[in-house]
Amino acid sequence: MISGEGPRGAIWCAAAFRLPFGEVAAYFPPHFQQMPTVFIKTYGCQMNERDSEAVAAQLVARGYSIAGEESGADVVLLNTCSVRDLAEQKALGKMQALVGQARKRETGQVFGYLGCMAQSRGAELTQGTDGVQLVVGTQKFHRTGEHLDALLAGRETVVVDTAEESGSQSRLADHPLPGAVSGRRQVSAFVSIMQGCNQHCTFCIVPFTRGGERSRTIPEIVAECRELVARGVREITLLGQIVTSYGRREYPPEGGRSGFVQLLDAVHAIEGLERIRFTSPHPKGYGEDLVEAYGRLPKLVESAHLPLQSGSDRILKAMHRGYTRDRFEAIIGRLRAVKPRMGITTDIIVGFPGETEEDFGETMSLCRAVEFDNAFVFKYSPRRDTPAATMAGALPEEVIEDRHRRLLDTINEIGKRRYEALVGRDMSILVEGISRRNPARYEGRTRCNKIVVFAGAPRHVGQVMDVRIDRVGTFTLYGDPAVVGLGEREVGLGESDVVVETASLKG
Ligand code: SF4
Repeated sequence: MISGEGPRGAIWCAAAFRLPFGEVAAYFPPHFQQMPTVFIKTYGCQMNERDSEAVAAQLVARGYSIAGEESGADVVLLNTCSVRDLAEQKALGKMQALVGQARKRETGQVFGYLGCMAQSRGAELTQGTDGVQLVVGTQKFHRTGEHLDALLAGRETVVVDTAEESGSQSRLADHPLPGAVSGRRQVSAFVSIMQGCNQHCTFCIVPFTRGGERSRTIPEIVAECRELVARGVREITLLGQIVTSYGRREYPPEGGRSGFVQLLDAVHAIEGLERIRFTSPHPKGYGEDLVEAYGRLPKLVESAHLPLQSGSDRILKAMHRGYTRDRFEAIIGRLRAVKPRMGITTDIIVGFPGETEEDFGETMSLCRAVEFDNAFVFKYSPRRDTPAATMAGALPEEVIEDRHRRLLDTINEIGKRRYEALVGRDMSILVEGISRRNPARYEGRTRCNKIVVFAGAPRHVGQVMDVRIDRVGTFTLYGDPAVVGLGEREVGLGESDVVVETASLKG
């Protein structure tokens, strides 16, 4: 099973990755009566989810099968996140518990760390918890299979592979076979377009764990998207640590369009693709060409995740974010001028070193002015090797807790109001499958990235449908397709919720 919780709150189960296999490869010891099974647990963001998916597809292609639970698996891999200390502590605690149980029961399981924490801590992870045999860094995911082969065959006892590898951003294009995720049709897929980040925000460990920016080529990204669409995928989310910096070296601006907008144009031209999303952008990357793309490209949905981090110019400068509060507000204004009902979400850090009550008040006031649909609010967590970790002015935990609570209350109150304003509207959704909240219902996603739960049927999966919103839950909408009387329709470009809705949101 691959499981993880990303910003979308997606929890996934990939037990159905298990494929029939023939003979067990001769190089595994005799106690493997069948090809070894692997359980992958994912921590962190959508980029990590996508990496786990690619590793799982790679292992299945080598003949491994993916286990439904950790206890029965021959191999347990934790794909880790380093963005906050809590994420690292969770993975370390989990591994300690797994190794302890395995030792007690003498299961002989192989344990490994993948991803960001593997990259930043390297060999030390094999020393602290006796029993960890594999550490694979962020540029070496594609070698996980061969390292496991060597460990399981006894050719190696411990493998730590965290070196940089040029071109590694292009070596993770594998996707699971159709229907392999939870046995349900895959309607929406992630496609990684680049790795790394050159921005070096002072709080962020990503440039250390993921390295500098490395973009894939437009033809290889388009080929991967085409292949997914041919398998029935209707929506693609382009992924990267800072997607708006895509192709800065490789694709100089053409006709005023950046490399990233050139990529959007190329993906948009794929026949059969219904929707395009992307994450994560940097506010600095919202030039006129990208704002204009929202008006020009109907498949580019009305949804933007713009990480704000702070509403105080003083703190933004200390964070090395490269924009001011005014510039951020101006970007939102321009986006809403092009698409008035755009769904806008953000990330905010509270308790950055030196943040005064006045700075925090500016974050609060900006949130009230902008009215985000939702926000991920994080308590500042010092990360080793980052400039902010040694800055003066660290705040007491209780101050950070208090600001976190107050900001969350504000975000929730604004979000509730914005969601309630959608009741009675007709919205276009792409049906993704059975609801994660209520297995008796189905769920789809609006173009502005809101989940709608409704009474559906298997035949609706992958369809674009219009539903009338009849009530709201916590950051969830509930809809009724029957009331609209339009039922399902195959492809509905141009009939988005932006067109169908009648009332307007603020902005
Ligand atoms: S732009 Fe994002 S990924 Fe890059 S350093 Fe800043 S916070 Fe980290």
